[in-house]
Amino acid sequence: MIDLLISGGTLVDGTGAEPRRADVAVEGGQVVEVGGLAGLSAVRTMDASGHVVAPGFVDVHTHSDLTLLSGPEAQSAVRQGVTTVVVGNCGLGVTPVAADPGALRAAAGYLDLDPSVRWEWNDLPGYLSALDAARPSVNVAALVAHTPLRAAAVGFGDRPADAVALDRMRGLLGDALGAGAAGVSTGLVYAPVCYAREDELEALGRTAAAHGKLFAWHVRDYADGLLDSVRQALRVAAATGCRTQISHLVAVGRRNHGSVARALELIDAARDAGLDVALDVYPYLAGNAPLSQLLPAWAQEGGEGPMRARLTEPDVRARIRDEWRDMPNSWDDIAVGGRALTELAADPRDLALDLVAEHGNGVQMVAGGRSERDLADALTHPAAVIGSDGQALDPDGPTGQGTPHPRSFGCYPRLFAEYVRTGRIGLADAVRKCTSAAAERAGLAGRGTLRPGAAADIVVFDPARIADRATFAAPQRYPEGIRAVVVAGRAVVEDGAHGGARPGEILRIP
Ligand SMILES: [Zn+2]
Repeated sequence: MIDLLISGGTLVDGTGAEPRRADVAVEGGQVVEVGGLAGLSAVRTMDASGHVVAPGFVDVHTHSDLTLLSGPEAQSAVRQGVTTVVVGNCGLGVTPVAADPGALRAAAGYLDLDPSVRWEWNDLPGYLSALDAARPSVNVAALVAHTPLRAAAVGFGDRPADAVALDRMRGLLGDALGAGAAGVSTGLVYAPVCYAREDELEALGRTAAAHGKLFAWHVRDYADGLLDSVRQALRVAAATGCRTQISHLVAVGRRNHGSVARALELIDAARDAGLDVALDVYPYLAGNAPLSQLLPAWAQEGGEGPMRARLTEPDVRARIRDEWRDMPNSWDDIAVGGRALTELAADPRDLALDLVAEHGNGVQMVAGGRSERDLADALTHPAAVIGSDGQALDPDGPTGQGTPHPRSFGCYPRLFAEYVRTGRIGLADAVRKCTSAAAERAGLAGRGTLRPGAAADIVVFDPARIADRATFAAPQRYPEGIRAVVVAGRAVVEDGAHGGARPGEILRIP
């Protein structure tokens, strides 16, 4: 007798194959059979008639590094159908802890929503063990982030990495990749990673290539410099042969609308030349990041403490205000706590400087003003996979404060509501972008498809009803239309409720 039979549903198997009527049999955490299985006896049968049965969504782009340790139920992720998350994106991460731990934790303020989470690791194996002990509801794979690597080898200052420092970073990265990290990520807008020169990025790329692993890029500039920034990632890919992911492709600033199509042309040319390059994207017209990201790199030098102190100096503030004259974002498009800065103060610049001076990297902004056309271009590109750029949050726990970006609650249902139901992306292709194509980028073998031998990570949803309910004004709302979410063969979410199961596996990628 098998453990679970999901019967009567429409199977969308994650490969891009057309939907078909098929039952799915699960045993020992794996899919064991797919097809017409009526009469098979099972401990549990789940009636999926009228529903789509698909592989659980693989979120290649999350910042749940620490929130999973605070709320291992991964509420906001698993309730939208996500069964695997990749942490360590955008160069922001929590391992290795080889330099000043306090300064590193401050640099990772964006990830750090629950002060009671204790950092009890020094390296990737230690961090993965902490995740093992937390027993999250979803599977987790980790990228090694550039910030802790650079902090260990160079510190937080505006200095190039010399030969010794490059060697140290290569060594630390190689150790972590050997211990099961899925790849490495950079975030060239964040200090101290913004001080990295291209030889440093090549060193990381070469190490990733030697392990056959992914190099994910939050590129240097998504605004006026988007195309040059994408060119840099592609140059490093060509020079090193590393598998490359352009993270959350978007064009920031109304004057840059249309740049996404040109960035995609660069990516297409690189792919045509044989490079393994792809991208991820989330289906919203606004992003979210630390407010401090608006500061010029020189103003962030030395870490959070020196940055905050500097922002109280009148001449520093005057210099930043001067540089902001040519800022691509409009201040009307930047909100903190759900309201535009221009609504909150007569002078949004002063307010922004005050907020960062007082609260450092923990202040989050929502930055809008993006183009619907750019977003559609990115989402429909054949090499685009979906990544939420969000976090697993628990509205009833310590990570439930504030006004996070709604993508943390609604990214995947929104794709199906806004793009699939309106016919802009086919159902099978959308599922592929959320599952097998995403798993392939992160090197997650045996996930992202529903066929015999695959992990029994499954989402069952109503294609007519699936929709996000989280908004920028009220983000902490779970989606609708998700009937069940199964991780490793166990039902975690059923009929809109999280049953408390925490069967997620911490993935060590060979
Ligand atoms: Zn990013």
